[in-house]
Amino acid sequence: MGGTGYFDRFGGRYVAEVLRAPLEELEAAFGQAMADPAFIAELDGLRRDFIGRPTPLLRAENASRELGGAQIYIKMEGLAHTGAHKINNAIAQALLAKRMGKTRIIAETGAGQHGLATASACARLGLDCAVYMGEVDVRRQQPNVAAMELYGARVVPVTSGSRTLKDAINEAMRDWAASFQNTHYLIGSALGPAPFPDMVRTFQSVIGLETRDQIAERDLRVEALVACVGGGSNAIGFFSPFIDLPSPRLIGAEAGGIGPGPGENAARMVGSASGDGIIHGYKSRFLTDEDGQVAETRSISAGLDYPGIGPQLAALGESGRIEYTAVRDSEALEALKFFARNEGVIFALESAHAGAAAITLAKSLPKDRAVIVNMSGRGDKDIFITSPVFRPAEWKAFLKAELDRLESGEDIHVFGGHS
Ligand SMILES: *Cc1c(COP(=O)(O)O)cnc(C)c1O
Repeated sequence: MGGTGYFDRFGGRYVAEVLRAPLEELEAAFGQAMADPAFIAELDGLRRDFIGRPTPLLRAENASRELGGAQIYIKMEGLAHTGAHKINNAIAQALLAKRMGKTRIIAETGAGQHGLATASACARLGLDCAVYMGEVDVRRQQPNVAAMELYGARVVPVTSGSRTLKDAINEAMRDWAASFQNTHYLIGSALGPAPFPDMVRTFQSVIGLETRDQIAERDLRVEALVACVGGGSNAIGFFSPFIDLPSPRLIGAEAGGIGPGPGENAARMVGSASGDGIIHGYKSRFLTDEDGQVAETRSISAGLDYPGIGPQLAALGESGRIEYTAVRDSEALEALKFFARNEGVIFALESAHAGAAAITLAKSLPKDRAVIVNMSGRGDKDIFITSPVFRPAEWKAFLKAELDRLESGEDIHVFGGHS
């Protein structure tokens, strides 16, 4: 294929005619902003003071000693404001939208992490914010819904289709087609129609650029970089400065779910259940069923539970530059516990997939090599998923007691009693 917006045969801009103009406007504005020192300076200031960058590179010395192989280093993206790498993209796109004269931002969200980052960025920059979220996800992810509303965003429940992430994307696209004059659609991963995959990679590449400096400062012999891959934004940002180099190895961890069977995972590159498709405005590899329809996916981590993958990540997988591996739910949970106990760091469930892949790789390598894992987020947000697994009885008792307390009206005293 080729042409702008393509990565080998993947990518492109498969949208309704009405969205061609806003996408072209966005592409031009993005190019101009990146060439404008004033934009870069403002973005750098937000990265430093709002996000808290640069994020540290932590040597996991206890974990590495226990494994007896390569030295594992953790890129601590989980320390970024709002708890994950998503804010790198959200604040940058919001700043670009403001520069374009847009006053309103819309976004899609699945588990709510991207919605949260977008809501926070909009509050900071004084932009109106509406977040489309499947009704099923709204019900499942109340803590994030509450936080988005606290930031002043409007959460719009989507009742079409399966009422999850893919339907939220469709609704956001529909909104944008009617509102682009004053509205920017802030896509949350390295996918969607061009220029989104390029733009999101550029804004997330701060992760890889910092890592490159941190490698040089410490003179590390890096064998591999490891990242989890949902849509692919943390991975492509982390890998970005290294893609055109022969080393280090770049390893993407997909969600292996509960097994290799259909509907049991979200492994688009490792499994055999995926094929080329055009969905949500771009061409890539998607998990499909026998009828060629987008398949249901399964993963303990909401952020990896998506049937598609960013077009550049698909292309780099086929060319062999990125090696993919599938990590099961149970392995991710083990890795989460391992790093918590050995390093005092709780990985997000998504990131724990990368952690598990890093453990396997480190064991097979000599001690003078380094393996760097991107901890895309921290695990506080997963307490409602991990606690029922690790401490089922205690967690159930806690929830029951909370419900009793609310029903007794005691909370009114707690919140009303400060006057
Ligand atoms: C959303 C999310 C992911 C997956 O998204 P990518 O675009 O693949 O990076 C991974 N980790 C965390 C912590 C997330 O919130």
